[in-house]
Amino acid sequence: MIEINKEELVERFMRYVQVDTQSDPNSNAYPTTEKQKDLGKILFEELKQMGLSGVEMDEFGYVYATIPSNSDKKNIPVICFCSHVDTAPDCSGTNVKPLLHKNYDGNDIELPDDNSQVLKRSVSAYLENHIGADIITASGNTLLGADDKSGVAVIMQAAQYLMSNPSVKHGTIKIVFTPDEEVGKGTAKIDMKKLGADFGYTLDGGEAGSLEDETFSADGASIIIHGVIAHPGYAKDTLVNAIKIAGAVLETLPKNEWSPETTEKRQGFVHPVSINGIAEKATISFIVRDFTTAGLTAHHERLKKIAEAVVSKYKGTTMEYVQQEQYRNMKEVLDKNPQVAAYAASAIERSGLKVKTESIRGGTDGSRLSYMGLPCPNIFTGMQNIHSKLEWIGVSDMMKAAETIVHLSAIWEEKA
Ligand SMILES: [Zn+2]
Repeated sequence: MIEINKEELVERFMRYVQVDTQSDPNSNAYPTTEKQKDLGKILFEELKQMGLSGVEMDEFGYVYATIPSNSDKKNIPVICFCSHVDTAPDCSGTNVKPLLHKNYDGNDIELPDDNSQVLKRSVSAYLENHIGADIITASGNTLLGADDKSGVAVIMQAAQYLMSNPSVKHGTIKIVFTPDEEVGKGTAKIDMKKLGADFGYTLDGGEAGSLEDETFSADGASIIIHGVIAHPGYAKDTLVNAIKIAGAVLETLPKNEWSPETTEKRQGFVHPVSINGIAEKATISFIVRDFTTAGLTAHHERLKKIAEAVVSKYKGTTMEYVQQEQYRNMKEVLDKNPQVAAYAASAIERSGLKVKTESIRGGTDGSRLSYMGLPCPNIFTGMQNIHSKLEWIGVSDMMKAAETIVHLSAIWEEKA
């Protein structure tokens, strides 16, 4: 029976969310904002106090720590738990005031600092699962930061549990807290050698029981159109304007399918994200998304064909099609190491939950880590309405997430 200390976990989470750790997409520094280290320093001190070894925060704001093995077995793979300390730039993270609503009664919750912010059961159906239990919201002016300080708090609480309950046998367990996940740089400066783990888990997911082992595969694509230039006063029958051709290409794209606004679940899409140019030369940039590499290839072929058909109607013009790889579906790596997700599923079940295997229509640090040699699915923490003022989390979900970490640590030891 694993009993996670609820008061400690809640106190921890409420304290971490009050530290402003918003990352900045326009910064070229590492970390993108120095203030992320404010939380890093707190975690560093607390990990040391708990007695973990190799506790370190580096110049980039990554915090590393090790829970030493307490098992006689020598062949246990080293696993790692990971979450990010930064909050999203979409919504203020300054002066977060977390509110603990004990015994949530099921009514709508008007947030005190801005009464236009109302958390409603009719919109946030998952609240249903938490009636009679404790939930935490922000106060109306900011996000809560459960994404991903719930992950941080849950990992810290599980570490505390493992350190003080030696009867739970486990191998070497690594912990890493990363900066800048929300601006796509969470793994930019991670030291895989220092981390030294074989398999990992991010704690950065939603509903209790959810296990995400699949992400989009992602490419970028650029269509570069070369027009024909002439002095506009003497351009009759000569000038062909590249910007107008770019407009024609966009107009030709399907309207009822193949875009973010018309697709869901396992459907892929192409999405123009920027256009820039002059009469002589115009570039349209796209993101291309699918769950399979083959699907990506098909999207590229289709997009290229559409563009070529348009451009070929204009005499003297040419186009180039350039594709860039961005990240790949972690499933391609995880399928080669099926025990990683399977053990996570068993751990979730041991915590008394039903496993919900899900795929993410986006990328995670886990997808990058998976391709950096650390197969890394994503485990729930309970976070809801992320990146918004209506963000909230159920305390019992966080408790189950911490319990899942403890079970998972034990399962790797048992199976070795
Ligand atoms: Zn997150």
